[in-house]
Amino acid sequence: MKLSLAYYGNPILRQKGARVETIDDDFRQFVQDMIETMVAERGMGLAAPQVNRCIALFITHVPSHDEEKDEWIEGPLRIFVNPKILERTEEEWIQDEGCLSLPGIRGDVMRPYGLKIEYMDLEGKMRTETYEGLEARCIMHENDHINGTLYIDRMHPKDRKEIENVLRAIKKKFN
Ligand code: ZN
Repeated sequence: MKLSLAYYGNPILRQKGARVETIDDDFRQFVQDMIETMVAERGMGLAAPQVNRCIALFITHVPSHDEEKDEWIEGPLRIFVNPKILERTEEEWIQDEGCLSLPGIRGDVMRPYGLKIEYMDLEGKMRTETYEGLEARCIMHENDHINGTLYIDRMHPKDRKEIENVLRAIKKKFN
């Protein structure tokens, strides 16, 4: 079942996601619904607060670029429950980001290039993994969501000011 999205201006996007205590059939169904929603909305990732559930859960499927064929390949589906970023690289890079909760705009965000993350999988097993590049960026963006932070909070104040009118319009239109 496709879930309805929470848009900028909805207070749920500013709350901290509660820890997931039990992984049961209801929870697994919710994850399936999130996957369906992410695919239907053509998102690279989706965090639970964006579909009106304030828990520490997000999913990603970040495409990768095949340099030889010069084409984008669909990325693996990843599910992060109770994630915690353990390390971030000192090296940072800028790229523009978009967000399903902020339709129609994009903005440049500086983020660390790589990270180490600890999380629980759908079997309840703890895992620690490292990511870099676009996938790390997407994970940090989604991890921000479950801490009540949006990418626009990380934009340069000058860039942010330029989109202030659009932000106000989104708030009005979707809430
Ligand atoms: Zn987002």
